[in-house]
Amino acid sequence: MQKQTQALFDKAAFQTSVEQHLLTTYAQTPATATPRHWYLAMSRALAEISTGNLIDTEQQLAAESCRSVNYLSMEFLIGRLTGNNLISLGLYESVSEVMASFGQNLTDLLEEERDPALGNGGLGRLAACFMDSLAAQEFPAVGYGLHYEYGLFRQSFEGGRQMEAPDAWRSQEGYPWEVQRPELNQKVGFFGQVEVYTDETGAERRRWVPDMQVEGIAWDLPVIGYQNHSVYPLRLWECRAPAPFHLAMFNDGDYVGAQYSAIEAGNITKVLYPNDNHEQGKTLRLMQQYFHCACSVADILRRHLAAGHGIESLAELEAIQLNDTHPTIAIPELMRVLLDEHYLSWDAAWSVCNKVFAYTNHTLLPEALETWSESLIAHLLPRHLEIIFEINHRFLEVVNAKWPGRDDIKQKLSVIEEGEQRMVRMANLCVIGSYAVNGVAALHSELVKRDLFPEFDVLFPGKLQNVTNGVTPRRWLKFCNPALSTLIDEKIGTEWPVHLAQLSALADFADDATFQQRYMAVKKANKQRLADWVSENMGIVLDTDAIFDVQIKRLHEYKRQHLNLLHILSLYHRLLNDPDFDMHPRVFIFAAKAAPGYALAKDIIFAINKVAEKVNNDPRLGGKLKVVFIPDYRVSLAEIIIPAADVSEQISTAGKEASGTGNMKLALNGALTIGTMDGANVEIREEVGDENIFIFGLLVDEVLELKQQGYQPYRYYESDSLLKASLDLLLGETFTPGEPEALAEIRHNLLEGGDPYLVLADFADYVSAHERIDDAYRDQAGWARKAILNTSLVGKFSSDRSIRDYVDNIWQLKAVKR
Ligand SMILES: *Cc1c(COP(=O)(O)O)cnc(C)c1O
Repeated sequence: MQKQTQALFDKAAFQTSVEQHLLTTYAQTPATATPRHWYLAMSRALAEISTGNLIDTEQQLAAESCRSVNYLSMEFLIGRLTGNNLISLGLYESVSEVMASFGQNLTDLLEEERDPALGNGGLGRLAACFMDSLAAQEFPAVGYGLHYEYGLFRQSFEGGRQMEAPDAWRSQEGYPWEVQRPELNQKVGFFGQVEVYTDETGAERRRWVPDMQVEGIAWDLPVIGYQNHSVYPLRLWECRAPAPFHLAMFNDGDYVGAQYSAIEAGNITKVLYPNDNHEQGKTLRLMQQYFHCACSVADILRRHLAAGHGIESLAELEAIQLNDTHPTIAIPELMRVLLDEHYLSWDAAWSVCNKVFAYTNHTLLPEALETWSESLIAHLLPRHLEIIFEINHRFLEVVNAKWPGRDDIKQKLSVIEEGEQRMVRMANLCVIGSYAVNGVAALHSELVKRDLFPEFDVLFPGKLQNVTNGVTPRRWLKFCNPALSTLIDEKIGTEWPVHLAQLSALADFADDATFQQRYMAVKKANKQRLADWVSENMGIVLDTDAIFDVQIKRLHEYKRQHLNLLHILSLYHRLLNDPDFDMHPRVFIFAAKAAPGYALAKDIIFAINKVAEKVNNDPRLGGKLKVVFIPDYRVSLAEIIIPAADVSEQISTAGKEASGTGNMKLALNGALTIGTMDGANVEIREEVGDENIFIFGLLVDEVLELKQQGYQPYRYYESDSLLKASLDLLLGETFTPGEPEALAEIRHNLLEGGDPYLVLADFADYVSAHERIDDAYRDQAGWARKAILNTSLVGKFSSDRSIRDYVDNIWQLKAVKR
């Protein structure tokens, strides 16, 4: 289709279209337009092409009664669309020429786009990669998310501390790729009560009478299939409150209602909660979740019924994938609609639900497992609570039949957690209500079975599965690393972006000296591109002969940026105190946002920034050590940093990182991983081989054992002089002149605080893995070989493969070619 679109592409017509948008949409002439106006007009002109294909695709899929998946996610971290879409459309060159005819440089125009930061991190980015892979392979799909007015906050540093600013990603002019679909708008209720009534047949029925109603506005973003004509919608719901929106709420003054009086319905999709792997139980968050699910479930049913299908056949044509527990409330919502609006019996409704929903678990961290207080759900969604009780009641009978009299098992599996405040466990509801549950990497899925849900695995054999995550090779290699892509094209042809396993053919050139040199020349140019960016934006000069050592991901204790920091402190200590110590020059690059309420994570950012300030300007180090914390981590930054990385830091405490996808992007671009046996690192090692990765640290079971024995961080501190020296550097005022205690909190957390993520236990092995890296890098040909083999051997981690796993094992879809 690339050829087709290219062939159909009429340059003169596109040129006219850009000029028209400039004038009619943005009120500019070529003489008055800024680069920003040109970017907007160009993108609008392109969006016109893709919207046509979106509508055509929708109509074809409806007419042919195609089975599709509905991917429900509270987050889609899509990144900038214009550049990527130009590649999918095969129009990069042609549009570049058209814009040049206006005197505009395409690369510069693409920099005008603000990232739509509608997600926190890995989970949201996964949803975006999955939509890309669904469209690339033409597996019918709709993505359903929320149209937040403010995306993830923008981060800056003041005196080394994180500052947060609102991210109005759409700007005044609106986002050029989105189209409103007013005919798809939905109404959503909240609060109120359940009424019992008798229908015409004399049957007793229940119905929910909400006392607040809001409107869901449908916005579509196009998900453009690579080299085909399929365009799928990413449908994002925006909340608007028709006035007057409150009825009883302002008047009754009851204790819970008072909390909501401050919440205007218009606020429901105002802002994305900035938490990653952490649940806070805020009322507005539950309102967001229900709003998302109610709009999406209604839209799925609308499509199904409009295509002329009966409600009972829903499960034959639609699968609903729940990306984590955030959209769990879709399960009782679909039950409510089937029972109260379509009058299905409980058994008929439950049988539909149980064949429609599938759930992806993303974490074992207890603080990330969602629970909602029963009283909150009772107030906000009274009918849903009744349905949850009924689901649970019937489920516990099954448990009782399996394990008679075992109240302990019943208590553990129940959707309701007993206690002073009864809580609803969303993960349990998901497992009970779904026909398939998957973890996101082999190790993680094993731990889901072994540690999180062992009884569910006995009760529902085969329900708990694995689908290892992946990343889209279009954005994460072809688009972000054009020089390497061209080199690969030359060696193995141009099909690899849709058949990533073909990269294995590159392994034949791993020992070819000329290829090694060309591969490393590309790496060097990418390092220069990043160094230029850092110099321009941060005023720090980097030496591209140094090893670029990269840790980019959300700031979290379990990801252990502080372990990386301690290693940097150990190098600093050795460079200054050990005359025998030598190292190849190293640049440590960080990028990470911390949740605004996560104090220790913010302390770690502050510490890294302060250490950077000192180290980067200490003449005694001879330029061997540089530390750069790049502010405002986001997709477009990842696209510059990843191609420039030599080393990829994937150093989470074993058992804590479910999969990781940053690890995949970096390995694909030829960075060597230093990592623990955690998440997908385990499978990356399997693919690239032990010689081409630097593994260190405790294994999952060793972590559990050490904790059981009673972990004593002080022991490591006392017995390892390098660790002691590194930790003690945090005490004085070496890095914070005049402020001696400013960095002490991190040290305190690791020593007196019990070091919950075993940083000290893994320190020595981590340091020695870094020494192996230093050795390996001195052999440039050997390093080139390892880097080439990383690129060659990680084809498994294409999200195309992940999607095929879902399609074969969970969704049972057929590709529909256009
Ligand atoms: C890939 C990606 C992530 C996930 O990184 P992990 O290392 O897997 O945690 C987070 N944020 C952005 C912007 C990404 O591109």
